[in-house]
Amino acid sequence: MAQGLEARRLQVNGIVQGVGFRPFVYQLAARYGLKGEVANTSAGVSIQIEGPAENLIAFEKDLAAKSPPLAHIVEIQSHPHPLQNYADFRITSSRGQAAMATLISPDVAVCDDCLKEMFDPADRRYRYPFINCTNCGPRYTIIDDIPYDRPKTSMRHFTMCPLCQAEYDDPLNRRFHAQPNACPACGPQVSLWGSHRQPTRTADAIPAAADLIRQGKILAVKGLGGYHLAVDALNVKAVARLRQRKLREEKPFAVMSPDLAAIQRYAIVEAAEGSLLRSIQRPIVLLEKASSYHLAEEVAPRNRYVGAMLPYTPLHHLLLRAGFTALVMTSGNRSEEPIAIANDDAFERLADIADAFLIHDRDIYLRSDDSVVRHAAGATRFLRRSRGYVPVPVFLRQALPPILACGAELKNTVCLTKGSQAFISQHIGDLENLATYEFFQKTIDHMRNILAVRPEIIACDLHPDYLSTRWADEQRDIPKVRVQHHHAHIVSCMAEHRLEGSVIGLSCDGTGYGPDGTVWGGEALIASASGFERAAHLSGVPMPGSAAAIREPWRMAVSYLHDALGGNLGGLDLPFMRETGPDKVRLIQEMIVKRINSPLTSSLGRLFDGVAAIAGLRSRVSFEGQAAMELEMAARNETESFYDYFLEGDGPWRMPPAPIVRAVATDVGKGCQISLISARFHNTLIRLFSDLCDRIRAAHGLKQVVLSGGVFQNSRLLTGLARALEGRGFEVFSHRLVPTNDGGIALGQAVIAAKSIEHGT
Ligand code: ZN
Ligand code: ZN
Ligand code: FE
Repeated sequence: MAQGLEARRLQVNGIVQGVGFRPFVYQLAARYGLKGEVANTSAGVSIQIEGPAENLIAFEKDLAAKSPPLAHIVEIQSHPHPLQNYADFRITSSRGQAAMATLISPDVAVCDDCLKEMFDPADRRYRYPFINCTNCGPRYTIIDDIPYDRPKTSMRHFTMCPLCQAEYDDPLNRRFHAQPNACPACGPQVSLWGSHRQPTRTADAIPAAADLIRQGKILAVKGLGGYHLAVDALNVKAVARLRQRKLREEKPFAVMSPDLAAIQRYAIVEAAEGSLLRSIQRPIVLLEKASSYHLAEEVAPRNRYVGAMLPYTPLHHLLLRAGFTALVMTSGNRSEEPIAIANDDAFERLADIADAFLIHDRDIYLRSDDSVVRHAAGATRFLRRSRGYVPVPVFLRQALPPILACGAELKNTVCLTKGSQAFISQHIGDLENLATYEFFQKTIDHMRNILAVRPEIIACDLHPDYLSTRWADEQRDIPKVRVQHHHAHIVSCMAEHRLEGSVIGLSCDGTGYGPDGTVWGGEALIASASGFERAAHLSGVPMPGSAAAIREPWRMAVSYLHDALGGNLGGLDLPFMRETGPDKVRLIQEMIVKRINSPLTSSLGRLFDGVAAIAGLRSRVSFEGQAAMELEMAARNETESFYDYFLEGDGPWRMPPAPIVRAVATDVGKGCQISLISARFHNTLIRLFSDLCDRIRAAHGLKQVVLSGGVFQNSRLLTGLARALEGRGFEVFSHRLVPTNDGGIALGQAVIAAKSIEHGT
């Protein structure tokens, strides 16, 4: 035995299979002159390594620091081991149950090495739109079972040619065990089709498709997680036609540009936003429009922001480099249905929208929408967490029993726990139509399958009429836990930050079912995973017409004014009243007085809507949260001034909206600018909630404040409130890993359900 040699056994857990981890270990061992072997195991990768002690230390350090881009190491266990005197270092093939419990990588953008090859005329994959390697390409969307191996992916229909197979088998090749490996000779192909399912005779489908877009046509393009509908974002008529055909009035369209420089021609890109745009996840990033903005107004009408992304599939790169500044790339669906993924389905459902189809023959097994993020209050904030991020789990403080949490109704996602990992699904959507409900069920089945988890508890919302709750009710022989909506919001954020014990939870939200039967949404909870107490809330006002009051914020305006001014609205001359007419206003007041279909709500989202309507911004919305969003964007004035407010009671406190609403109406009457009114309104809320937290701290001794709920998508409120609370000595926590809206709620449901079972309640 040689002097000074040591041996160690390492177990690496996390996303370490199918991401080029073993070749990376091999090369690292070679660099430090170490011997031994590496193999996939059921939990990750196991390494037997021996050589000089100082080289082992360097090896271990690099293992964590220099791992491949798609790897996500959760832990490395390292133990001394007897020397085996290996002659070399080798990659051993996976054994038996290997890869059953390992994590699957998300789908990520094509890497620079592959791009370089694709644009090299001498390369055998020159302009081949399905080029990929172990560092890039599709994963989650092409798997339908585990272990992650080619026969379990939609690549099973393609047999590798000898050249591809040789790459696949060579441990030192970038494509070693790259399951989607392919080339023009053996892999998937693109083709261009007309709207009546007739293939076009064209030598090269992508330039032909680009020509159609240049002519103003609407193109359905098959992507990674589903179809997009693409038009030239500079073509006013084409964008308008897309809106018309898609029945989408005002909700912004996302755009894709060939490179960062192109985006900078129409949007302001700060450094953090540039890194987000270029990250391997390639999300849609919300950016402020630049003064040089020159895309069609209809792309993001009446919006200060535009959602932009960079190409993430090789096909996108080929299409975008045909000379476009920006293409609208919106989900290939009709209104609120899930996006189309199968070619037949796309031909059928998009027939009335698309003029042509750029399709291919690699199947998408699981739909995954584009993720949407923004940079706010110093961090990345998810508006929609989907492609590129799913299925990376949230790592919890402790292991939970297997739980399936069903999420809420809007922006639905589900969550499945496995040990201390919480897997949040891709964005499923609003559970309001059959197609989305089927996608919800399919996602649950799929996740159970690929994670190999059989849930023992089901968690769902307290709202009896949510389709997700009804689905939970239908599952037999399994305990269910119903979780209050805003409690789930707060605990979801606590879980992200691994907080224990009780916190002050500010849940500022649109709609959530309260245990008292009213609609909650402006809540201060003293919350822990075990339970909550309602410490304070906005005073309830009626929602005349219930759901209609969400679609028509002017109804909420009448309700708040009625509440603030005692019913006599005759003397008011507000823009929305002129628009609606006195008769309708009186009718709504009657509904309020007689309590006809007018549930009480303490929602802050509704107060935003109401104030937006009183300020004359908008009386009706075409998507949830639109009025509130426009009110936020209207605020430009950097004023310190604010409106009167007060707190009633002495725990639970009530925060009456009346004084704020009176002041807003007065400002509007005086002809004050909306930018000033909105700024004052935001300042008022920041002070009101800060004062409230002071009182709760004095009464309960808590100094951790957790912010959650859809209203915190408002960056002005989030930034201002976090700063104010920190200034008063609070520790403030907000969402960074999952959305603050209902897309993040399933995580909190799961953690609360685990606690309630533990306590036997
Ligand atoms: Zn690559
Ligand atoms: Zn090939
Ligand atoms: Fe919510």
